[in-house]
Amino acid sequence: MGNTKNIPYGCQSVDEQDLKAVADALTSGWLTTGPKVDEFEEAVARLSGVQYGVAVSSGTAALHAAMFAFNIKEGDEVILPPMTFAATANCVAYMGATPVFADVAPDTLLIDPVEVKKKITSKTKGIITVDYAGHPCDYNALRKIADKHGLFLAADACHSFGGSYSGSPVGSLADITTYSFHPVKHITTAEGGMAVTENPEYRKRMLRFRNHGINADFKERPDWFYEMDDLGFNYRISDIQCALGLSQLKKLPQWLERRRKIAHEYDRAFADVNEIKIIGSKTETKHAYHLYVINLQGEGREKLRRSVFTYLREHGIGAQVHYIPVHLHPYYEKNYKTKSGMCPVTEKAYEGILSLPIFPDMDNAAIERVVKTVKSAIATAKGQQCQK
Ligand SMILES: *Cc1c(COP(=O)(O)O)cnc(C)c1O
Repeated sequence: MGNTKNIPYGCQSVDEQDLKAVADALTSGWLTTGPKVDEFEEAVARLSGVQYGVAVSSGTAALHAAMFAFNIKEGDEVILPPMTFAATANCVAYMGATPVFADVAPDTLLIDPVEVKKKITSKTKGIITVDYAGHPCDYNALRKIADKHGLFLAADACHSFGGSYSGSPVGSLADITTYSFHPVKHITTAEGGMAVTENPEYRKRMLRFRNHGINADFKERPDWFYEMDDLGFNYRISDIQCALGLSQLKKLPQWLERRRKIAHEYDRAFADVNEIKIIGSKTETKHAYHLYVINLQGEGREKLRRSVFTYLREHGIGAQVHYIPVHLHPYYEKNYKTKSGMCPVTEKAYEGILSLPIFPDMDNAAIERVVKTVKSAIATAKGQQCQK
């Protein structure tokens, strides 16, 4: 094979403009919470179609801050899908509340509104959606359920930054929406995250939470006096990171376009491969393609997925599996009595899913190499099966 350079499943793009933005921030006089934090918050809020952004140290911190804003407590239940990164559920557990897992729909692997309804009890306080792979959930249905039962609607949009649903941007579809700026996500601040909202009260609570629960901005303080109203954390993000985020944000439109183009190429290449089911996308949504996920089909799919995964790795292609269902992690089994069989659609999907490389700097030759290698991986695995 000609090019044997490794292709990761996701990768950041950092250019000269980014380097300059970071260098400028380093010498501006502000290192931590300064003007770049405000500027970054405003820019991301604008893109999200809402008033406010609260930038924090990670996507996980943004989820935690959102749960704090909703004031959930021990005894409260929050419904969320198990097909996600553990942090979506952990943020509920951080508050002493109980995460309740609602299964996903088989065609999209997005939280199924029908399953959400079944999980509502007198203790339910809210719903957290996950726009899995970058595909916005069915927000019309979810909003109706939330309003009918007086629940908050939070969106973990760590995959769908820049996506939209029925013409409305991700960020404007839930009461609070959270993003991550980890290097594999759409834009990066190295580590970082943000919660966006239209609600000034939620914003105030999250600002306080990010800074130990202290009730005033030090820039506006006339003297030494401040009070701590709540038990918060140090979840601040630096000005340096936000300068990088602002510089990255300029490239988001072209990067989204590239992600969609790569996904389109994969869709076409795999359309006639029987063993591959492409995870569907609904027409009313604009997919942001944080991930490109294929679902391997047929009997022995777990074995096939293992063979394809190993074959790809051996050929320098960094496939991944997103995700091990959260309710099957030992921590949740032990502390929340979750178990296998509780979310059958998620569990079945988990046996066959595989994330293929997708990132803005991925060139056409790399796409072709992934397609060819996936096809020969399947052929090789099937050949081995036949010999037995
Ligand atoms: C990345 C991610 C997170 C966590 O973000 P961090 O910035 O790594 O803390 C949470 N939820 C989902 C769905 C993610 O993909």
